[in-house]
Amino acid sequence: MPKKTISFEPADRLKVLPPYLFAEIDRRKRELIAKGKDLVDFGVGDPDIPTPAFIIDALSEGARDPRNHRYALDAGMPVFRESIARWFKKRFQVTLDSGKEILPLIGSKEGIAHLPLAILNPGDVSLIPDPCYPPYRSGTYFAGGVPYILPLLESNGFLPDLSQIPNDVLAKAKVLYLNYPNNPTSAIASKAFFQEAVEFAHKHHLLIAQDAAYCEIGFDGYEAPSILEIPGAKEVAIEFHSLSKTFNMTGWRVGFAAGNEEVIRHLAKVKSNVDSGIFQAIQLAGKKALDEGASAHRANLGIYQRRRDLLIDGLKNMGWEVNAPKATFYCWIPVPPGSTSGEFAAKFLTDLNIVVTPGNGFGAYGEGYFRLSLTLPEERIQEALKRIQKAHRHPHAKADSK
Ligand SMILES: *Cc1c(COP(=O)(O)O)cnc(C)c1O
Repeated sequence: MPKKTISFEPADRLKVLPPYLFAEIDRRKRELIAKGKDLVDFGVGDPDIPTPAFIIDALSEGARDPRNHRYALDAGMPVFRESIARWFKKRFQVTLDSGKEILPLIGSKEGIAHLPLAILNPGDVSLIPDPCYPPYRSGTYFAGGVPYILPLLESNGFLPDLSQIPNDVLAKAKVLYLNYPNNPTSAIASKAFFQEAVEFAHKHHLLIAQDAAYCEIGFDGYEAPSILEIPGAKEVAIEFHSLSKTFNMTGWRVGFAAGNEEVIRHLAKVKSNVDSGIFQAIQLAGKKALDEGASAHRANLGIYQRRRDLLIDGLKNMGWEVNAPKATFYCWIPVPPGSTSGEFAAKFLTDLNIVVTPGNGFGAYGEGYFRLSLTLPEERIQEALKRIQKAHRHPHAKADSK
């Protein structure tokens, strides 16, 4: 064969994705770790607490049964879908048809990213909050859709101002993404806001895709509502749920969509062409988690709430202006004046060996903020507070080398 250089360019749809803003931080992180530095990592939003043992037991029992070794049904095992319906009824007093209004997903990200393929034609508009979880935007691009940005501003409680969307945009818009409790801002939405959104969707013939990945992570007794509690919501909304954050199961890949029957069917059709369902033993473990996970979930919330209080009180005591989140395991904090999100994150990493996520990584409207994730033990939070305190007293102090 003649030797020639072959190169494979990525498709245009990959080229339009925003650049990976964390690449530089990741590089610096690896460099510091290689030098033996002791990093305190508030970066990743991934529970550090293990999956509860009774869920692991259900997985291993399921894994030993050869009936679970074959392809799963695309639409999910009826027993799993029924457990989702029972959980939904108990938690939100919403009745779902387990055969038609529920679709198990290989993690909710999978369904979120595939949804635009099911409902958008090229040129259709997606209304996307900014800052946001990245798959809303990338899923839209993959389907040939056009994102229209809805700024989430602190002055509006990090809720989108639906009245600001121009009519010509609304005429082309097919879907409105919402995510409450919100990543990265930790904002919550009231039922009144969900009601407004549902009315808006009816009026403008839109689908609402509400991402409820954090609906079970609430503090001080706060329990987030489901958008499906709003009368008329099922006609215009689909809600994404996840077992990942609730039961420390991020690596397992299990979640579900609930709501509008037609959209569930369209999404199921996309999925039947790209995947072959969730390993059945994982579905059985998911059923166990939903049926019997209440006390494990409560224990988790206690852990996050203690970490939240430790961190927020510690920062407040040093004069920082921070609000305790009511939900999610994130703290969304304004960057002190004089630096950008990126500069601030780089300085914290280099000077204090503390990893934070710069807000602009979630979109342009995240500029001016940084995110801290509560997915690390209290000792590590204490250690970070010590370093910040020391830097306050000696502004040019560097982290101790370890
Ligand atoms: C973590 C997360 C998800 C989804 O997680 P899965 O593990 O894919 O179920 C969805 N949305 C947001 C905003 C998240 O932070």
